[in-house]
Amino acid sequence: MSSYLPRALLFALLTALVAFPLGYFGKPWMGWALFYIGLSVQLAYHYRNFSRLERWSRQPMLDASLEGDGEWDSVFRRLYSHEKELLAKIEQRERDIARLIAAVHVMNDGVVLLDGFFQIQFCNKTAERQLGLDSHTDRGLPISNIVRQPEFIDYIDRRDFTRPLILRLERYFERVLSLYVIAYAEDSWLLQVKDVTQTDKLDRMRRDFVANVSHELRTPLTVLAGFLETLQEIDFDPDERQRYLSLMAEQSKRMQSIVQDLLTLSSIESAPPPENDLVDMGSLLDKLRRDAEALSDGRHQIVLESQGEGDLRGCEPELVSAFANLVANAVRYTPAGGTVTLSWKVAPEGAEFAVRDTGIGIDPKHIPRLTERFYRVDRGRSRDAGGTGLGLAIVKHSLSRHQATLEITSKLGEGSCFAARFPASRVAIGGG
Ligand code: ADP
Repeated sequence: MSSYLPRALLFALLTALVAFPLGYFGKPWMGWALFYIGLSVQLAYHYRNFSRLERWSRQPMLDASLEGDGEWDSVFRRLYSHEKELLAKIEQRERDIARLIAAVHVMNDGVVLLDGFFQIQFCNKTAERQLGLDSHTDRGLPISNIVRQPEFIDYIDRRDFTRPLILRLERYFERVLSLYVIAYAEDSWLLQVKDVTQTDKLDRMRRDFVANVSHELRTPLTVLAGFLETLQEIDFDPDERQRYLSLMAEQSKRMQSIVQDLLTLSSIESAPPPENDLVDMGSLLDKLRRDAEALSDGRHQIVLESQGEGDLRGCEPELVSAFANLVANAVRYTPAGGTVTLSWKVAPEGAEFAVRDTGIGIDPKHIPRLTERFYRVDRGRSRDAGGTGLGLAIVKHSLSRHQATLEITSKLGEGSCFAARFPASRVAIGGG
């Protein structure tokens, strides 16, 4: 403005200085004509620049070619640089918001923004998956129209969010979600959804485990206590007394086996990763065969098959206990006259230790649950055979610590095969 005013005045003064003498000394109309021409030039000059500004103002961000004449040019430049600064700030803010939204989308927790009427304003991808929402089509809809569980609707209606809501969604593969509703601004709510399926499962497993252990130990304890009471109250003859004592010894042996297996399981669970000791498979297989023969006591045919040269790398006691469990099961669940085959195969892609039997077999519906703690197909048969229901849980745990898998195939009444497959990284060829 400061430089513009003197120049505009100067121009008006010059026009007046020329027009006045011309009108005074020459013809008045000439003076007036010159004066109007001067004014028109001024007007045209300003109009031209004003139109540029007007054109530019319609789309100020996109038009970079804002150039003016004279004083207008410096005004345009300032205006344009302000616009550029503003545009850069807006772009930066947009990038920040996009980054923030991208981060919210990859969060492990679901996030849903709700307005005062609990209508969906935004939801991240995790919430879409967890609650079956669609961030585009469900926008503006009340959340309780989409999540229809009565307990959820009730939770939202009560408006008491001091405690999270635990929601079990059976249609989504038994997902368990923990929902928190938090007020974050006026009439704005944030629904945070945590998937607690795993923790819930672990919690349930822990509760089941404690209940199972108590049950497993209570049974022999009750029997033992009963026998003790009987022995105290009744004066049996020595033979009868001996019979009771051996039954009591059997029950206490049973408790010992359960406690021993529990200790083995817990020591495997808390132990550091297994070492890389070289386990000589030749002598281990021989030992397993001898154990099987001792356990079978001549009632079965025990066969040993070996294919390829190679040993295992790992923790010897753990591997011995896993293999011995499989062998003992095969002998215990195979009636007399059957065959138990131990096989060891080494191939470039890995090695396999398998125990095949011609025993009672297992109904396929039980196979996926066999490695669960205390799971038995036939509780009575397992107990009679001296089982604790923990053997295969120990096997599976020891194997997975060696990156090995357990594959169970079986046909009811025909026999079973338990194969432990080790990756090549666990196999030592030629003793190396
Ligand atoms: P247990 O101590 O009862 O044998 P395990 O965990 O070793 O417990 O095995 C779980 C169940 O799997 C057993 O109770 C039995 O029903 C079944 N099972 C295991 N091995 C065999 C087998 N070779 N043949 C048939 N059933 C088997």
